[in-house]
Amino acid sequence: MYDQNTKYQHFITDLDQLKSKDQFRSLVSISDKNNKYITIKDKKYLNLSSNDYLGLANDAELLEKFSEIVFKDKLINKLGMSSASSRLLTGNHELYEELEDELCKLYDREASIVFSSGYHANTGIISAITQKGDLILSDKLNHASIIDGMRLSRADFLRYNHLDYNHLKNLLESNLDKYKNILVISESIFSMDGDRTDLKKLVDLKNQYNTILMIDEAHAIGVFGEKGCGICEEDNLIQNIDIIVGTFGKALASVGAYAIINNILKEYLINKMRPFIFTTALPAFNLYWTLMIIKALPSFKFKREHLKDISDFLRNSIQDQGFVTGGESQIIPVIIGENDKTVKTAEKLKDAGIWLLPIRPPSVPEGTSRLRISLSASLEKTDISTIPDIIKGETL
Ligand code: PMP
Repeated sequence: MYDQNTKYQHFITDLDQLKSKDQFRSLVSISDKNNKYITIKDKKYLNLSSNDYLGLANDAELLEKFSEIVFKDKLINKLGMSSASSRLLTGNHELYEELEDELCKLYDREASIVFSSGYHANTGIISAITQKGDLILSDKLNHASIIDGMRLSRADFLRYNHLDYNHLKNLLESNLDKYKNILVISESIFSMDGDRTDLKKLVDLKNQYNTILMIDEAHAIGVFGEKGCGICEEDNLIQNIDIIVGTFGKALASVGAYAIINNILKEYLINKMRPFIFTTALPAFNLYWTLMIIKALPSFKFKREHLKDISDFLRNSIQDQGFVTGGESQIIPVIIGENDKTVKTAEKLKDAGIWLLPIRPPSVPEGTSRLRISLSASLEKTDISTIPDIIKGETL
């Protein structure tokens, strides 16, 4: 496959191994993204692999409103396109403060802090607030950014079985006396399975064992809750969770992330969190757009309702066809199992004009390769009604 006589031999061996296991990944150039479609090499596909859950990323009305402001207020000339510095130096445009104030108002909490990405947020917060002598307990299916945060931390970490709160309780019981502080972390809606944490149970355990509780709402923000603040809002537990992480890059149609915390943690993170301190701040131009979306978030209620409606419809019709699926959100996994079968099914969908990427290890456990259907409020039932039949044709 490659020239074997180079100092890159071990990389080549690893890549060949990925290829032989159908786990090799490569980039695809997208020439256009418009509402529910993407265009690749002049062919238009229905996009079922995006995290634009509310369909805001290409919302004509919102973009038009923003363009008018950009033009009228000469925003590009005023704000430029780069912050050219970290937040602690000269990158901390006053729009950061406005955005953080708006997030505090939305959640009715005393402090919030904005980061350059969710990956920065999770790796940075976890490694900053835990030290040697502490323990981190994390759901087994938590996102890679949480796993990497634990690896960066000097604390010990253990993973409890997915959504198994008895297992978590046992780990708390048996480790309580051995550690100074314990941090418990879970996603609220799981990215690869679309299932949902029982937040009430986590909050009860947090209270019982006096731990810090961190919840990653990346896939729930915008989608759940009356105002769109996620599962914490829907379960009426916003005030009971120490750290709520949300990302701007999915339903909120922007880039960056935030944490809802208290004043002590905010000061601590500003002083101790390396991925906060040592990275370039977001461009003020982008903060302006994010602020507009956050202000409008409660008004997208009808989009949330529509998304729930089409998600229930598709999940039920996939189950009716005899497939293993799960979850209770806009993320619908169709578990195929083997890598090659999953890749083939994705190819078949592609031929039918549907962009639905196969998800394979290491993103998911071995033997659970899947199609991860990720719905957007810009889709209608008629767009997705043929999917179960197409999948069935290839895999049964
Ligand atoms: N948390 C979860 C659960 C995620 O799925 C992701 C991204 N897929 C992130 C954090 C990272 O967010 P970002 O893309 O903003 O880095």
